[in-house]
Amino acid sequence: MRGYGNLVDGYRRFRANQSDTARERWQELVEGQTPRAVIIACSDSRADPATIFDADPGDIFVVRNVANLVPPFDPDGGMDGVSAAIEYSVTQLNVPEIVVMGHEKCGGISAVLTGHFHDARPGEGGLVNRWMSQIDESAQPIARDHGTSPEAHRLLEEAAIRQSMANLRTFPFVAEREQTGSLVVLGCHFSIRTGELWVLEEAEGKFRPV
Ligand SMILES: [Zn+2]
Repeated sequence: MRGYGNLVDGYRRFRANQSDTARERWQELVEGQTPRAVIIACSDSRADPATIFDADPGDIFVVRNVANLVPPFDPDGGMDGVSAAIEYSVTQLNVPEIVVMGHEKCGGISAVLTGHFHDARPGEGGLVNRWMSQIDESAQPIARDHGTSPEAHRLLEEAAIRQSMANLRTFPFVAEREQTGSLVVLGCHFSIRTGELWVLEEAEGKFRPV
């Protein structure tokens, strides 16, 4: 088959290797989904939530974008797939947990710190630049104190996770459900080099390995 990269080979393995249990599971899933968590992750090919959490189809509702960002609640905003996915999963699927997962070596984060796409036109990095400008304020003190060092990258990756969690809480239905205890908002950071996941302990304000 022309095109599709090597994806069709993978698809054929997927079809051939399916167990009877998996086939039965698809039969259940066609009736509907009740995922255990929503995961806001980066589009980066190395930080796939289903792989990291060893999740099966139906387990996790995943929203991916450049640098796992959540914009603030904006009822009059433009086309916004992130907010729509959050609204649907929280208010229609009643998912009990939202996890923002950042990761090491994030290209979006790096672009902010290095200014790589600064002033770039749409089609030349300008779209990434516009999307990532959401975290400019968080980036300024980090860039001032740590430049473009690995430390700066880690700090801004963590700051972006915190900011997305704060923005999630600007969605009224998220804040309400968190208050009544029917929804938990969590943050974590995945290290590509070690494969370790660190979770944010909000009471301490620190990320720790699980
Ligand atoms: Zn990334």
